[in-house]
Amino acid sequence: MDELPEFKRTALEVLRQPLEDGSVVISRAKMSVEYPAEFILVASMNPCPCGYFTHPEKKCTCSSVTIQKYLSKLSGPLLDRIDIHIEVEPVKLEMLQDAKEEEASVIIQERIYQARDLQMQRFDNQLFLTNSQMRKKQLQVYCKVDSAGESLLKTAMEKLHLSGRAYDKILKISRTIADLAKSDQIKAEHIAEAIHYRSLDKI
Ligand SMILES: [Zn+2]
Repeated sequence: MDELPEFKRTALEVLRQPLEDGSVVISRAKMSVEYPAEFILVASMNPCPCGYFTHPEKKCTCSSVTIQKYLSKLSGPLLDRIDIHIEVEPVKLEMLQDAKEEEASVIIQERIYQARDLQMQRFDNQLFLTNSQMRKKQLQVYCKVDSAGESLLKTAMEKLHLSGRAYDKILKISRTIADLAKSDQIKAEHIAEAIHYRSLDKI
């Protein structure tokens, strides 16, 4: 969904149930029907209507009321249900000209396959396959965090006023980051990266 805040707020709010439960219930006068609705939501948005609110050099021409109105299309409960939020900064010219070789996609793909294999083995006796599908019970079993990570998580919860749902998401994402790093235990560095992906919790 490109330009997420341009969608009607009512249409966006309807996404909350399928994002949470992987199903959608359509109710009519005499009956209600539940359909499976598991999907991956990928959405993008600007920081304000003109697009330059967080730009390091260009000046934003929007009033604070306009920005507030734009951002208010996205409710806290909807953002809470999106696992990863990433702020993308403008690419500097030096970076575009940098001839340094980036890691090839095929190597990244291999790392992802290995992390998915780990998850399949982990959930061998479950009815699901991935970290993102873990419920509270499995989080307690599979997301053991080292003590430095625990205290980092506690500080983030207090400082950013994160919800219980955001806490669970940070655990799941840090489990995946640890899997990609082939680490059995979730360490502080994995928790720190996962917290970084909750940037929209602050708006
Ligand atoms: Zn602007």
